[in-house]
Amino acid sequence: MSKGNIGVTSDNIFPVIKKFLYSDHEIFLRELISNAVDATQKLKTLSTAGAFKGELGDIRVRVRIDKDKKTLTVSDHGIGMTAEEVDKYINQIAFSGAEEFVNQYKDKAEAIIGHFGLGFYSAFMVSDKVEIFSQSYDDNAKAVHWSCEGSPEYTMEETIKAERGTDIVLHINDEFSQYLEDATIEGLLKKYCKFLPVEIAFGMKKEWKDGKQVDTAEENIINNTTPAWTRKPAELKEEDYKAFYHELYPMQFDEPLFHIHLNVDYPFHLTGILYFPKIKNNLDVHRNKIQLYCNQVFVTDEVSNIVPEYLTLLHGVIDSPDIPLNVSRSYLQSDNNVKKISSHITKKVADKLAELYKNDRADFEKKWDDIKLFIQFGMLSDEKFYDRAIGFALMKNVDKQYFTLDEYKAKVKDAQTDKNGDLIMLYTQDADASYTYIQRAKEKGYDVLLMDGELDVHAMSQFEQKYSEANLGEPENTEAKLGEDKKGSLRFVRVDSDVIENLIVKEDKAAVNLTSEEEDALRYTFEGLLPKSDKANYVVSLENVSADALPVFLTQNEWMRRMKEMSAHQQGMSFYGQMPDSYNLVVNIAHPKVQALLADIKANNGEANLGELYQQIEALRKEQAAEKDNKSQTNTEAKLGEAQQDKRDLTKEIAALREQIKQHYAEDAKSNDKVSQLLDIAFLASGLLKGEALAKFVNRSVELL
Ligand code: ADP
Repeated sequence: MSKGNIGVTSDNIFPVIKKFLYSDHEIFLRELISNAVDATQKLKTLSTAGAFKGELGDIRVRVRIDKDKKTLTVSDHGIGMTAEEVDKYINQIAFSGAEEFVNQYKDKAEAIIGHFGLGFYSAFMVSDKVEIFSQSYDDNAKAVHWSCEGSPEYTMEETIKAERGTDIVLHINDEFSQYLEDATIEGLLKKYCKFLPVEIAFGMKKEWKDGKQVDTAEENIINNTTPAWTRKPAELKEEDYKAFYHELYPMQFDEPLFHIHLNVDYPFHLTGILYFPKIKNNLDVHRNKIQLYCNQVFVTDEVSNIVPEYLTLLHGVIDSPDIPLNVSRSYLQSDNNVKKISSHITKKVADKLAELYKNDRADFEKKWDDIKLFIQFGMLSDEKFYDRAIGFALMKNVDKQYFTLDEYKAKVKDAQTDKNGDLIMLYTQDADASYTYIQRAKEKGYDVLLMDGELDVHAMSQFEQKYSEANLGEPENTEAKLGEDKKGSLRFVRVDSDVIENLIVKEDKAAVNLTSEEEDALRYTFEGLLPKSDKANYVVSLENVSADALPVFLTQNEWMRRMKEMSAHQQGMSFYGQMPDSYNLVVNIAHPKVQALLADIKANNGEANLGELYQQIEALRKEQAAEKDNKSQTNTEAKLGEAQQDKRDLTKEIAALREQIKQHYAEDAKSNDKVSQLLDIAFLASGLLKGEALAKFVNRSVELL
């Protein structure tokens, strides 16, 4: 028997290991099993190469629990170690790896990710004592027994071991007794070892007998040693890919839409299968399902530092030994291999989509609604992906026809370019709610897009921006050329945000030919009855729209509404979310009902002496103008103060008179059913008439019949 000191520089690294890796201590099992699998694979390699001439025999790796002895044993029939090798690989090399790891992380416990790097020594996180029993494949070597109790001292002696390979025996610390429970170990094996290339056995398969679970004669194998991603695409059928999807996600009942089999040898190694799930709404449910493996050992399902964020919506497996795992997460993103891997995956995904689009457009259209969110997310977050995807990203109109942006531009260009040369794309977020507006647009020969997706508002803004960038960048767009071939902007406007004549303006608007008194009459009459609330602002505007549009209607500023919608998904934009909705109440003075109403109101004003009020205002205005002239002549400091005082008073007086006029109209409006009726119709058409207001409208309508 020999005793020795592991080549230590710090007194005892084991408490440090325990402390720093506490949160991730379960990885010890993955580390030990990885070593066992490596040892087995090495032996297979030697055998193939003819360097090992014996029988491979049973090469299963076995995990056993002995509750009485409080031990957990990992056994393999791999290459084994001689005494010299234990000294070299365990006492020297493995130890230096562990020490390096601890030094690297001792000041940043939170940065520890527990990903590899610690290897064999991670066993000490959960054990009081660790023993190695090993018999090398080299028959001439004696078996060796190594033992260490978590201090820098170890013992090593010759022993007798009948079978080739290594047993690692952990004497589990009382604090970690969960690792002596079958269920815990089986859970960990399923998590980390599900797809290891060598069979891992844990206990026996069970069956029900006489109302009890009893062991069968068959070993319980944890893993599938040849998962689909390790096989050649040519060997696999569509069903195999689907079956593997369900093997990966036993709780996922939806079928994936399609898959991408990744297989790269140079300049890095990468295999894997990515699946496109159906992504209806709510991005978060689908995120972080990709599992990262390193040579078939599960590492993590947190791949957000390895692939762009939108790719985390995909499902599946990435396996690469070239992703550095023993570094901090933030470092990962700047790693060159990781960057290459990330852009390779991005390219593959775009290629696959382009191919599906090209090969079977009809099928692609069928799947579009389910992949749209993913593609939009990609286009919004990655310029390169945008450039690829713009060729196959689709838009759907209310008649369920699909177009690429270019196709759609060509379709609507002639009809929907306004008098300024701007191309207007009409859309709705709810085809039922804006039915009448859609009909009006169609009557004009326009088309309406259905933009009801979670990211559509963002996507539209992106299209607008890209379009204007592209136009600005065009060299032939010089001033000389502008005259004949003027290129305007691209704008998306919601079809119900205004009357169609205002959305796509074809000719200059007819002027509002009312006197200022008439304007006051209409404006104040409607203002008087508009609802007052913190959640919505209304501004009355008089417009000469057309006799066949509604007499009074609500419009909403496209930009403000979009800002509010975008703020719902975007941090730092909550400012917009809190703003009240602001509406324009358009009074269409071209409409006969409005003209009749105006005549009505004017007839009513006979007794109100409004004329007198206006005369007084006029007089005050004149006075004000005279003061102004005076002021500029007698420009001394003292006089100036006085004049300003006067001016304030005059302004106040005018305001007070106007207020009287306003009050008069507001009061009058209350008893004018026609005003209420017109207003209610405007609210109704925008889907905003609810509750008590709706009940009143219904009653009033009945009475008016
Ligand atoms: P790593 O596996 O990263 O090299 P470890 O600390 O886990 O680091 O192991 C150190 C070395 O000990 C391994 O490289 C291997 O040579 C040897 N070793 C560990 N476990 C076994 C085993 N079960 N059979 C044979 N050799 C082993």
